[in-house]
Formats: sequence, C-alpha cells, structure tokens
Amino acid sequence: MELELRAETPDDTRAVGAAIAGCLRPGDAVAVTGELGAGKTTFVQGAARALGVTEPVVSPTFTLVREYPGRVPVVHVDVYRLDRLQEVLDLGIEEVAEEGVLFVEWGDVIEGLLPRDHLVVELSSSGDDVRRVVVRAVGGSWAERWEPLARALEPWRADGGER
Ligand code: ADP
Ligand code: MG
Repeated sequence: MELELRAETPDDTRAVGAAIAGCLRPGDAVAVTGELGAGKTTFVQGAARALGVTEPVVSPTFTLVREYPGRVPVVHVDVYRLDRLQEVLDLGIEEVAEEGVLFVEWGDVIEGLLPRDHLVVELSSSGDDVRRVVVRAVGGSWAERWEPLARALEPWRADGGER
C-alpha cells in the first residue's frame, strides 16, 4: 500500500499532513523520513494542527522529544543523529505514545522500534519547492483504513492510482 503525492508549497505539505491526520487514531505512529530540509517538520506541523494542537510545532532537534496537548496528544521525536538512537530507546516511545499519535522524524532509522503497524511518509526534493511525498502503510490495521486515506489524499496524487 503506497501512494505518491506532490506538494508544491510548504502549505501544501502541511495540508497533506492534515489530511493524513484525519485518518489517525491514538496509538498510531508515523515515521517521517527525508533529507534535512525535505519538509519533515513542516509535515508534522500540519498534522499536529489537524489533531487539535494549538501550540506552534517546532523542530525537536535539541530536546529530542516534544509532547503537545491536543484533541489527540501529539508526540514529536527527531532522531537526527544515529547516536541519539539509544536515548530514544531509553524513552520507551511506545509507552509515551499509547494515548497519542507519534511522529518520528528520520523514522527510518528507528523503524524497527515503532509499533508494527505504522505509516511511513517519505519526503524528497529535487531542488525547487516541489516535494515528492510517498506514503506507505505497514501492518494489517492500515488495510481497512487505506481506502479512506487514499481518498483524503486524492488532491495531491501524483501517481494516478493505487499501486
Ligand atoms: P526537515 O524537518 O525535513 O529538516 P523542515 O520542514 O524543517 O525540514 O524545512 C523545510 C524547508 O523547506 C522549510 O524552510 C520550508 O519552507 C521549505 N519548503 C519549500 N517548499 C516546501 C514544500 N513543498 N514542502 C515543505 N517544505 C518546503
Ligand atoms: Mg525537522
């Protein structure tokens, strides 16, 4: 289950985050991957806002983890360096995120630590403002939620259909 999207502006990327957030429920985890500047934090900003977070969402680079109260609490982790992996392990992120939604920037590094069912959002840039956004679902719980998710993301579809 994979969708390819095109986000032409930062607001577009936030809107994609918001559309995905509409399909998320407590306990869900989203790994957000891509190079520095790809738009990972921008994506989480849109998603968090849609989950009812009113505080500004900023990069958790120096704190590693930020928690935001919302309609659904949001936990935002940035594992920007591999040597911080142990710190994340020590946090026991599954416990932290049981009642909320967990977003992990550079999540591919720690994908093995996420709940088995999760989303992967992969952002990439080809130099200008346009971002290619690939959304991939892992695990059975997403099978039944995939159709509504695909429908919600229709406006940004770049691949013309499900693969
Ligand atoms: P990351 O968390 O991946 O390092 P950020 O979200 O912090 O990236 O930064 C992305 C930067 O790229 C921001 O300065 C943002 O304004 C810019 N940008 C330009 N076009 C886009 C786009 N389509 N989507 C997201 N960010 C974009
Ligand atoms: Mg970031």
